[in-house]
Amino acid sequence: MVFINLFLFNYLLFIALMSNFVLMIEEEKEEKSLNFIEEIIEEDIRTGKHGGRVLTRFPPEPNGYLHIGHAKSICLNFGLAQKYNGKTNLRFDDTNPVTEDTEYVESIKNDIKWLGFQWAEELYTSDYFETLYEYAVKLIKKGLAYVDDSTPEEIAAAKGSPTEPGIPTPYRDRSIEENLKLFQEMREGKYKDGEKVLRAKIDLASPNMHMRDPILYRIKHAHHHRTGDKWCIYPMYDFAHGQSDSIEKITHSICTLEFVPHRQLYDWLIEQLEIFPSKQYEFARLNLSYTVMSKRKLLQLVNEKYVEGWDDPRMPTISGLRRRGYTPESIRNFCERIGIQKRENMIDVSLLEFCIREDLNKTAWRRMAVLDPIKLIITNYPEGQVEELIGENNPEVEGGDGSRIIPFSKELWIEREDFMENPPKKFFRLGPGLSVRLKHAYIVECHDFKKDENGKVTEVYCTYVPNSKSGEDTSGLKVKGTIHWVSTDHAKEAEVRLYDRLFNVENPAAEEDFRKVLNPESLKVVPKAYIEPDLANAVAGKGYQFIRLGYFNLDTSSTAEKLVFNRTVTLKDSWAKEVKKGS
Ligand code: ATP
Ligand code: MG
Repeated sequence: MVFINLFLFNYLLFIALMSNFVLMIEEEKEEKSLNFIEEIIEEDIRTGKHGGRVLTRFPPEPNGYLHIGHAKSICLNFGLAQKYNGKTNLRFDDTNPVTEDTEYVESIKNDIKWLGFQWAEELYTSDYFETLYEYAVKLIKKGLAYVDDSTPEEIAAAKGSPTEPGIPTPYRDRSIEENLKLFQEMREGKYKDGEKVLRAKIDLASPNMHMRDPILYRIKHAHHHRTGDKWCIYPMYDFAHGQSDSIEKITHSICTLEFVPHRQLYDWLIEQLEIFPSKQYEFARLNLSYTVMSKRKLLQLVNEKYVEGWDDPRMPTISGLRRRGYTPESIRNFCERIGIQKRENMIDVSLLEFCIREDLNKTAWRRMAVLDPIKLIITNYPEGQVEELIGENNPEVEGGDGSRIIPFSKELWIEREDFMENPPKKFFRLGPGLSVRLKHAYIVECHDFKKDENGKVTEVYCTYVPNSKSGEDTSGLKVKGTIHWVSTDHAKEAEVRLYDRLFNVENPAAEEDFRKVLNPESLKVVPKAYIEPDLANAVAGKGYQFIRLGYFNLDTSSTAEKLVFNRTVTLKDSWAKEVKKGS
């Protein structure tokens, strides 16, 4: 019997070990598996396409600040180049003079660098305007482009529908000479905005609407942030993007899925122009729950003052996340974790929060702060005595990460919610007759408290156990709870801003008006919190864990006279709990 049991035990152990092993192999396989773009690149390298060269680009339009969705594209483009010994260009896609601005150019460069990436060349589509003009002339000369005088409505109507072919406008068969002359005149400013466009002459019956004589150039008498008033005609996206890729000899031009239907036109133009054969590949854009991501909507939030600015800590912008206390590592990690897909999906914002928590747990310095104070008086502690206690900066760091001095005295601030007049059974904090440990300090027992005329507790009276000091405790006492505190005489004051999700619904972009589902409680301000004195030395960008309260970051508006902290994230995912409670 014993033998059989032993045998069975061994057998089960063997199965368990094997399955563990299989799991390990699976994990390793998973680590090594390539995403679909890596597969394409490795195949291109293997077959010697482009001589094994990899050149990607990140092509923002300078019409807003970068957001976390852009971070996904940045991590992908720069990451691929790093992995395959290649390079990445930063190209400003500045073909729309009305909405673009140098403020955006500067912020974009700043954000990319902050994320930890360096581009090979800084380029502007507007630098190619002359070349693009020549390309257009080449198409006209090949009989593949024409000037159309129709109004936008007429053009749209003549384009047909996905089930009906389009019909030619009266201008489609202009001679090459006439087209050359008119296009030249368009450039010279002879016509008003909208009076004429240049269109490719492709196929009005194509099942792909983008191939039905797409517009290549439009007239726009507007000042451009780089070319000034030199141009009054501007190329459309489709006649700028692929051509810029080609001019730069980009090997893998990676964009988001909505450009899939543009790919046929991308290839057609490159082929007809007989220029460098860049290729376009598409991945799913990042959608994040409880936020909006389009720059147009974010700009609306800024302009209509729903938020403080592009870098409001509730914004999904890189600058907002930075101000909130997100680190570049946490964002890169997040992008790595979500990977890239070929199908649209929605990523839960709690994954982003998980990533910053994980990072800050390793790096943030622990400090004490009291947001909703009541006074605790240690009745048996000598009046006027101050002890300088030592608190480790981060006990999670192996070998330590230094320490700071925490002054301790007779009167302390503690959190209001750490005291209850009539505590329930399992309340391991303070109440009449209850004991707790004061973090880094002594065990105290509450023997009394005082209330004001409204019945609000104002002071809590305790005695301390002199031989219970943390690290040298000989009291033999055991207590279940530890609470944080700040010495009233030594505390500094600070404003603390507590953030929550900016929207109340998972997918605000799907609402008729996304502004109607803003979370009215997305910002709560604690005007006067008490913080331990060492926090006066805090610097923005260095994470701090306020013990038991969350991770915090000094706000960029903070001054020596008025310290301001932002809560980056709570210590636990409170939303997950809410959902469970509700279910
Ligand atoms: P938005 O829709 O927010 O205005 P956009 O696509 O117009 O964004 P661009 O400045 O043109 O913004 O984008 C630069 C690059 O970033 C493009 O290659 C684009 O595909 C990519 N990108 C933009 N938004 C996302 C996103 N949510 N997820 C992944 N990549 C994105
Ligand atoms: Mg765009």
